[in-house]
Amino acid sequence: MSVIGVDVGGTKIAAARLGSGYGIEESLVVPTPEGGEAVVRAIADVTARLAAGATDDVAAVGVGVPATIDPATGIVGASNHTGLDGLHARDLLQQHIGLPVHVDNDGNLAALAEHRLGAARGHDDVVLMTVGTGIGGGLIIGSRVFRGGGGQGAELGHVVVEGNGPPCQGNCPNHGCIETMCSGTSLGRDLRAAAAADPGGALGALLAEGRLDSRTGLDLARAGDADARAVFTTAGRWLGVAVASLTNIFDPGIVVIGGGLSAAEEILLAPAREEYLRRALPPTRRAPLVVARFRNDAGMVGAGILAAEEGAA
Ligand SMILES: [Zn+2]
Repeated sequence: MSVIGVDVGGTKIAAARLGSGYGIEESLVVPTPEGGEAVVRAIADVTARLAAGATDDVAAVGVGVPATIDPATGIVGASNHTGLDGLHARDLLQQHIGLPVHVDNDGNLAALAEHRLGAARGHDDVVLMTVGTGIGGGLIIGSRVFRGGGGQGAELGHVVVEGNGPPCQGNCPNHGCIETMCSGTSLGRDLRAAAAADPGGALGALLAEGRLDSRTGLDLARAGDADARAVFTTAGRWLGVAVASLTNIFDPGIVVIGGGLSAAEEILLAPAREEYLRRALPPTRRAPLVVARFRNDAGMVGAGILAAEEGAA
């Protein structure tokens, strides 16, 4: 028996067929088309292609989306450029695919993947943040994914760390959410500011070439550039401020950082850990702050696990 996990992003749809032990047997990546119905057709198409290569039955399909899902209606809430907003994605996909389909928020699925197979194995309570363009979140409480009553819980990127900070992104009306202080978007902003302040430096050179973003900035930080390093250190400290609040609330066994910027590893995590340990309430225990096992394939693997666990239900 195998399952198919699909991760729908703003620019690409990544999907995999997972066999025993959730090993990836085959995977595909296609660009995310424009418009919700085209996205539904693209998901159905990649699923059919992966199912065609299966040597046994495909039990179910899991789909992760960067959006909230109303658990009562299955309707997708505001999403980041996937066009699925307002659609009853599960029912539509089931009609197209002819297999049981389960849809969930991508942060929830990343947390599921880390809990069942990754860095958070063996912990009943887990806080996960995916640091990418923005910050997604997932919570495991009592070994189960916590979604909140309306499916809008665990939006950990919107934990406020600076009440009068920068305006948040997307449909968030708040200011100073952690994703305005430590994300690909905020790092790009802060790296550009550092570059403008020192046009003669390495950051300034990248800015002049039009190549300065969080990835190239990270490369410079890794190479030891002090200015780039300082930007990541400051962002990491803000992340630690958020982690201190989250550990005070949830008392998790572990805190996991995933998403594309988790590739920064200790460049981001060391200052985050230092700040978190300085700020969190005195411990009865201390949750380690670690990098996720699954980075680019967290959504696919988590979606596959969801499909297997929910099955035909
Ligand atoms: Zn926000």
